[in-house]
Parts: sequence; structure tokens; C-alpha cells
Amino acid sequence: TVGKPDISREKSAELYRKSKTFFPGGVNSPVRAFKSVYGTPLFIEKGDGPYLWDADGNKFIDFCCSWGPLILGHNNAKIREKVTETALKGMTFGAPTAIENELAELILKNNKFIQKLRFVSSGTEAVMSAIRLARGYTKRDKIVKFEGCYHGHIDSLLVKAGSGLVTFGETSSAGVPESFAKETIVVPLNNIEAVKQAFTEYKDQIAAVIIEPIPANNGLLLQDVEFLMELREITSKNKSLLIFDEVISGFRVGFEGAAGFYQIQPDIITYGKIIGGGMPVGAYGASEEIMSNISPEGAVYQAGTLSGNPIAMAAGIAQLTELNRLGFYRDLNNKTKEFADAIQRFASARSYRVCVQQVGSIFWIAFSDKTKIQSAADIDPTSMEKFKIFHRECLNRGVYFGPSGYEVGFVSAAHTKIDLEMAKRTIFDALDITFKH
Ligand code: PMP
Repeated sequence: TVGKPDISREKSAELYRKSKTFFPGGVNSPVRAFKSVYGTPLFIEKGDGPYLWDADGNKFIDFCCSWGPLILGHNNAKIREKVTETALKGMTFGAPTAIENELAELILKNNKFIQKLRFVSSGTEAVMSAIRLARGYTKRDKIVKFEGCYHGHIDSLLVKAGSGLVTFGETSSAGVPESFAKETIVVPLNNIEAVKQAFTEYKDQIAAVIIEPIPANNGLLLQDVEFLMELREITSKNKSLLIFDEVISGFRVGFEGAAGFYQIQPDIITYGKIIGGGMPVGAYGASEEIMSNISPEGAVYQAGTLSGNPIAMAAGIAQLTELNRLGFYRDLNNKTKEFADAIQRFASARSYRVCVQQVGSIFWIAFSDKTKIQSAADIDPTSMEKFKIFHRECLNRGVYFGPSGYEVGFVSAAHTKIDLEMAKRTIFDALDITFKH
């Protein structure tokens, strides 16, 4: 196998020159700027099914899928039809509509882990509201989060661990006051001792423990189910709330997300991405009792001009209706497992230092000789150099991954076995080149 010439990025480069005059770093969300991989960012022209086309006309099999929302692939006909039909009646009213009831009913009837919910417009907003609700409900201030979990760009969660097992967060962004970070305690994943220590040190002060039950923002760090069960126990015992941030795992690993997958009942669940069918939607849900604390029923304020937007609800209804069909997840998850296993087998046979982790239709190709990676500290940052080569070789051969080695891949229902077979061969070639370097 030999390296392929780089794809043409002339039009993308031209658009990037222009976008840099409009937006900081030329983008409206940082990772899109391709800072951790080779070349200028690709400007996307269109998507259809599992495919993406960039401004230069290059075609790719897409495993980013807009970072997760597109579980049915790009430009799904049923979503498009429902959205256009709804748009004919107007875009937004800022008043209750029947279509909000319709999406809420579809979710609540098929998800036994929440009884009531609120729609918002992004994952960040969902998490921010859930944290406020937990604080309002428990009348406590401190939050426990895990190193290696991402919960959106809310002030008190833009924190990283300091040195030591249990630490106050250190801000990971300028503009976050130290005093906010002091309300957040950061502990390592999959380590119940650290959580116990936090509850000892901050007895009766912890409002909630927030976790991505399937951490998928810093690689895919699958947790032991015993660890998640112990989290449930320790939070209940201490009258703290357990928040599952299911912005990625919700409706991804199954209709009931990670709560259903592990059969663990958290106190609050946040959703985003898939729930909106490609439109900007987030949600948070809990028991009726906890949700009764939200304004106007309760004292915790939360609102939104475009919350429950009809077009977004329409996209969500069309998408979730498909996901709710019998066998949907079984087929998608099996297909993904076969794909991930084949990549691992190929790499192992050639003694490449690759560890493929997978759950449901999420997978992560890590450049590591470990067989299991469960916490942020298990990731070797120097392995990202390998990812950079791999990413370039994949792009040059028509396979698109998110532009960072810490990002997971998503398989959609639109990826056929043939697409996955083609992608596999491409990935094998890209791995051969990667390990020649
Ligand atoms: N929580 C998790 C687990 C996420 O993965 C993300 C986004 N990647 C967010 C929250 C923030 O969502 P959004 O980007 O829609 O604000």
C-alpha cells in the first residue's frame, strides 16, 4: 500500500480564507477547524445517506454523522418530508403547539426512566438546566464530574482535574471564574474510591454527580457496570442526585439510552443530538416529583424563545418514530460490532498498536496497545500523531472521521454492508500507511 495524493481542497481553502474574516478561527465551533489533523477544514456541500460531499466535489463515507445526531444518515426522506410539511405552517410561535405533545408522548411512552421532560435547544442548555435543577432540588451547590467527560460549554463544567485523586476543578477555559470552578469536584472515571472520598470530604454539600454513562467525548471510555451501579448507590445514600448526560448515548445505544442499556435509574437525564433529528434540540427529564421544581410549577427558572420549536419537533418525531421500530437497534448495533471487530482483527493480525472500542453504533479506533481504555489517564497523548496520519490517509481514500483522535465514530442505519465493507478496506490501507511511519 502506498500513500495516495492529497485530495483537492482548493474550494475549501478559499472558503476558509473567507470564513476566517468572519468567525474566530474561521469556524462556529472549534473542533471543526481541523487543528489537530492535517490540512485546512473541509467545507461540506451536501450529505445523502452515509455520504458527504465537500465543496471540491470529494465524496466520503461519513462516520462523523454531524457528531451523532444523524442516526438515520444524511437527508433522510421521512425527516425531510415531515420538516417541510411542518414549515408550511410557520417557523415558530413561542406558544404551546400540539407537535410538542406528540414528540413528548413518543419519548415518554417508550422510556421508563423519565416521567416528565423539558425541551431546550442544545445539549449544553440541557445540562445547564439539569445542574440548576439538581442544585435547586437538593439546596446544595457542589457538583462532582469526571475527568474525560464533556458536558457542553457551561461555566461550572469547563473544568479539569488538578493533581490529586479528588480535586477542585481548575478552569479549562479563560473567562470561567475560579469561584465557579470551586463548586465542581473532579474525579477520575471508573474509580469508586475517588467518588467515596469526594463524598467524605464534602459531606452534605454535593448536589449531584454528573456522568456520561457511556463517555464518548474523550475517546470511548466504557465504564464497568459495577462502577455505575455503585454511583447510583452512593448518590442515593448521600441524598445527592445522579445525572446521566445522555446527549450522545440517548437514543443511540437503544431507545432508552444508557439508562436502559445498563438498567440503572438516574435522577435526571439530559438528551440532545438524536432527539432533534438534525435540528437544534436538547431535553432534560426526570421523575414528575423532581420536574415539578421547574418554573412555572416550581422555583427553578428555565426558559427559551425557541424551545419546542415546531420544525425541530417535526424532525425529532420523524427520526424517533423510525428508531422505535422493532429490530432497529439490533440491526444497527450488530452491523457496527462486525465492523469494529473486523478492524481490530486486521490490526491485531499485523501487530499494529490499535485498540478498537465499541458499544451500540459508537466506535473508537485508539492507537494504543492496551486492550481496554476506561479513563482519560489511560490515553497516551503521543498516539494522536498516529491518528493524524490515519485521518489524512482515510480522507484521501474517501472516508471521513471527525478531525480529532479523541472523537468517536458513529455508524448510521444508512450505512449498508457494502459501504462498511468499502470503508473497512480503506481503513485497512490507511492503517498500513500509518504504521509504516
Ligand atoms: N453533553 C455531551 C455528553 C455531549 O457530547 C455534548 C456535545 N458533544 C454536550 C453535552 C453539549 O451539547 P451541544 O454541543 O449540543 O451544546
